[in-house]
Amino acid sequence: MTSILLKSAAVAFISVAASLLLTLIVVPAMGFPVSRTIWLSSTVCPLVLAWVASASTFWQTDRLKSAHRELARAHAQLAAAHRRLQEKASRDDMTGMLNRESFFAALDGSRRKSDRGALLIIDADHFKKINDSFGHLTGDEALLLIASAIERGVRGGDILGRIGGEEFAAYLIGATEQEAKRVAERIRREVELIRFRPVDERTIPLTVSIGGTLCAEEANVSDLMRAADRRLYQAKHRGRNLTILDADIPAAA
Ligand code: GH3
Ligand code: MG
Ligand code: MG
Repeated sequence: MTSILLKSAAVAFISVAASLLLTLIVVPAMGFPVSRTIWLSSTVCPLVLAWVASASTFWQTDRLKSAHRELARAHAQLAAAHRRLQEKASRDDMTGMLNRESFFAALDGSRRKSDRGALLIIDADHFKKINDSFGHLTGDEALLLIASAIERGVRGGDILGRIGGEEFAAYLIGATEQEAKRVAERIRREVELIRFRPVDERTIPLTVSIGGTLCAEEANVSDLMRAADRRLYQAKHRGRNLTILDADIPAAA
């Protein structure tokens, strides 16, 4: 407020000076004497008008600036909320992993940068039995333990997602066949090591079967999913709690 008054006073002072200068040049040039009334009106009029008009302009400019600052703040808050919502929408509520859609989008994005990598599909074994025996809530607890075990098994930077009810996927960026086998086996082992005791001291075994495929250059996401799914099917067929990667059964198509 003080700065508005000071700035408008400066404008009023300049206006009075300009008005006086004009009066002193124009009035004698027209052959009139510079009377007290002329002095008064050429001082008071610009003083009052310029002060009020400039104070109002400065005040409005000030308000406009603060409204602009508030708008920028609101915009930043909205953008942050939008980012948070987007992040939440891309996640599976239960495990916090990427959901199916976001996992495939991330996989696609990663493959655009580099072809090299391996895709693993990890499916909980006989999970329906756990639900049937202990109820859905206990089943959820088991799923969370499995999800944590999978997280422990992958390497930092790998892409993880929950792509179905009791089905997870991991994209091992840049992994060679050896690395992919090592990670898949580590995941399988981490799950096997879970000590799940939902009701009493009895430990309920939790296991997963894993099908995996190395990423061929020309393969798209559907091709990779199909190939990994085939290996998963074989792992289930061979008794579960098993890891099968592309090169494990070269004859299989
Ligand atoms: P398989 O070894 O052949 O995979 O047998 P499975 O019983 O795991 O497979 P199936 O497809 O027959 O059953 C999957 C079960 O997983 C049934 C479904 O109720 C359960 N399931 C899926 N999502 C959830 C979930 O979010 N929470 C719980 N508790 N159970 C789930
Ligand atoms: Mg299953
Ligand atoms: Mg399944």
